[in-house]
Amino acid sequence: MKKLLTLALVALAAVTAQAQSFPGNKPITIVVPFAPGPTDRVARDLAEALKKAMPGSNFVVENTVGAGGTIGAARVAKAAPDGYTLLVFHIGMASTPALYRKLPYKPLEDFEYLGMINDVPMTLIGKPTLPANTYRDFENYIRANAGKLNLAHAGMGSASHICGLLWQSSIKANESMTTIPFNGTGPAMMALMGGQVDVMCDQTTNTTAQIEGGRVKAFAVTTAKPLSNHPVLRHYPTLQEMGLRSFNLSIWHGLYAPKGTPPAITKILNEGLKKALKDPEFIKKQEGLGAVVVADKRVEPEEHKKFVAAEMVKIKGAVDAAGKYAD
Ligand code: ASP
Repeated sequence: MKKLLTLALVALAAVTAQAQSFPGNKPITIVVPFAPGPTDRVARDLAEALKKAMPGSNFVVENTVGAGGTIGAARVAKAAPDGYTLLVFHIGMASTPALYRKLPYKPLEDFEYLGMINDVPMTLIGKPTLPANTYRDFENYIRANAGKLNLAHAGMGSASHICGLLWQSSIKANESMTTIPFNGTGPAMMALMGGQVDVMCDQTTNTTAQIEGGRVKAFAVTTAKPLSNHPVLRHYPTLQEMGLRSFNLSIWHGLYAPKGTPPAITKILNEGLKKALKDPEFIKKQEGLGAVVVADKRVEPEEHKKFVAAEMVKIKGAVDAAGKYAD
């Protein structure tokens, strides 16, 4: 008994010492499960803000891509739970269980939730030569060319995939386009600008500059409310205004650590995140890209987890109704 107690005390002392020196000068890796693009952008801006919020810390961002973000998420689920490997993932945390019957991680069991980061609207966009200038023309064009067009997305369960799926099912044009998966909407955007694919629904963090530069055509935003305060995005109607009555899609991002990361370390990371999200430079960058940084309760790990659990139920219903799976 005495020996067991001593062992427990030694283990506790080791965890406390580890937490006291965390992160020290060892870099913290943030895994982004997509190629450079919108989620990567959020993670890199966040890494800068975290570095400022946690003096002396060092963050590196790594892209572990494929299968709609599930390969990168699995990497973090299986990483050592020491706080040095984190994940920035978006709505995919809640959508992949609806689409993949065999998922290499359990979203609610294999991660420590560290808090949410932002909400990002999406935009329906087309290649620059698409012969439509308004949402109405665009929808008519899609219907008239059923079976002939390609929709780019970032893999099954990604935000762009979910958006494309929900939108096609909302206009009762399921399967009207062939879906082409990429490792992220960064590479998909290159294909869209080059005219190799026709249509995409992507986050404003990736589309704003391209819309402004006229390199893609934008037709609508996916949020319930118009983005009236944004200098570029305010020119586009919401899908609700275009008659898709309940269409409301905003992509959120969150920060995660592997399950079993000591509470003293998750606390340091959560406090760093809270501070980073108040960084005026981070807020300004995100707002410029149409995103809204989260505040208050949503940065609390319990609230974050509750939110993801609720989203899982909501998305499963929508995906089941659309009737599409990854396998
Ligand atoms: N977030 C993905 C990316 O960064 C895109 C997506 O989920 O559609 O490429």
